[in-house]
Amino acid sequence: FDRIKEVDEKVGAFLTLDEENAIARAKDLDKQLENGELDEGNILFGLPVGIKDNMVTKGLRTTAASKILENFVPVHDATVVEKLRDAGTVTVGKLNMDEFAMGSSNENSAYKIVHNPWHLDYVPGGSSGGSAAAVAAREVPFALGSDTGGSVRQPASYCGVVGLKPTYGRVSRFGLIAFASSLDQIGPMTTSVEDNAYVLQKIAGHDERDSTSAHVEVPDYLAALTGEVKGLRIGVPKEYLGEGVSEGVREKVVEALEVLKELGAEWEEVSIPHAKYSLSAYYMLASSEASSNLARFDGIRYGVRHTGDNLIDTYKKSRSEGFGDEVKRRIMLGTFALSSGYYDAYYLKAQKVRTLIKQDFEDLFLKYDVIIGPTAPTTAFKLGEAVDDPMTMYVNDILTNQINLAGVPAISVPCGLSEGLPVGLQIIGKHFDEATVFRVAHAYE
Ligand code: GLN
Repeated sequence: FDRIKEVDEKVGAFLTLDEENAIARAKDLDKQLENGELDEGNILFGLPVGIKDNMVTKGLRTTAASKILENFVPVHDATVVEKLRDAGTVTVGKLNMDEFAMGSSNENSAYKIVHNPWHLDYVPGGSSGGSAAAVAAREVPFALGSDTGGSVRQPASYCGVVGLKPTYGRVSRFGLIAFASSLDQIGPMTTSVEDNAYVLQKIAGHDERDSTSAHVEVPDYLAALTGEVKGLRIGVPKEYLGEGVSEGVREKVVEALEVLKELGAEWEEVSIPHAKYSLSAYYMLASSEASSNLARFDGIRYGVRHTGDNLIDTYKKSRSEGFGDEVKRRIMLGTFALSSGYYDAYYLKAQKVRTLIKQDFEDLFLKYDVIIGPTAPTTAFKLGEAVDDPMTMYVNDILTNQINLAGVPAISVPCGLSEGLPVGLQIIGKHFDEATVFRVAHAYE
């Protein structure tokens, strides 16, 4: 808390702090430890953690950085929060984000912006900008983020930390405020690959409260960190190093590939033929799912109510006052794409494109162990620079959202600086093969 107080006024990573409860919990853990009731060997024991504010925390305000949830205090914990608590961690507070996880710069938070700890005039990335900045500024040793189209990896890249989006279904989404349910995944944000593996180990696994969480065994991720990549086959899609990717980013990624080559891995250029359609398909599908998921925020069941003359009027007022511009834009886009007469042309078409992209990845993984490229086309940009231009903002996740469409796991690891700002290397693996992703990331790191 001393460290948070020292820097967070400048960084803006936290929306809510829970100091009193956290300290009480830490004292309680101490007592249990003294009484021999707890396993001292548990690596996460006693560590403070920050949770992105779209994961529900019992008794602790959860806003998703939206005005519409300004007063929302959940009655239960998300599964990930519960699992971390069982592992002996201490939740210190809730982290800033783009409203309902929609954005790439954290400037869509209804409360305050987050500053990139490397350079306070720059964005931290988004939507898990608070999580990335809190870890980068050493306010917490690790945090949880969520990733629908890049929201763990892109801010990790901009803030020089490690961020993993696990395979869709690897981590329970129970208690994650839904944005686009077929894409959303929760992932750890840490300062090292090893830490990331420790956290995933604790939060992964099937959960009967999330029917999309998979019945797939969770391997020993720490055992995967062998440092060994000899003979590993890497595919590098030419689309990932082409037009739109800045020179500084390209240079650092190629340097990283050379490091892996020196360690005995082999890489060659490949292609993801449908990559160029992923941005359109992603924004169509994510907005459609969002328009449906966000229907529940009506001022009646949750959050802030603005009373009107009748029920419909109350819905309208609550939603008009409660949602920010970007959220409204997505709801309108999604509602349009799902409406009769347009459904086939937009939503269904985007679903078909999604299948093609997934097949592109499956084809590549017949031959390659991992696919590598940059996490984002550029380093962090200046605060305010893209805030009025949704298209420029959307292009930020051109290299990340196709991974969500395919459902495969991917990590962003720091691979150097370009003009003083961090560059992220993205390592993409096969479905449920986070172990190989960790192995390669760790060997490189
Ligand atoms: N920037 C993307 C969007 O705004 C990604 C969001 C996310 O992954 N939550 O939709």
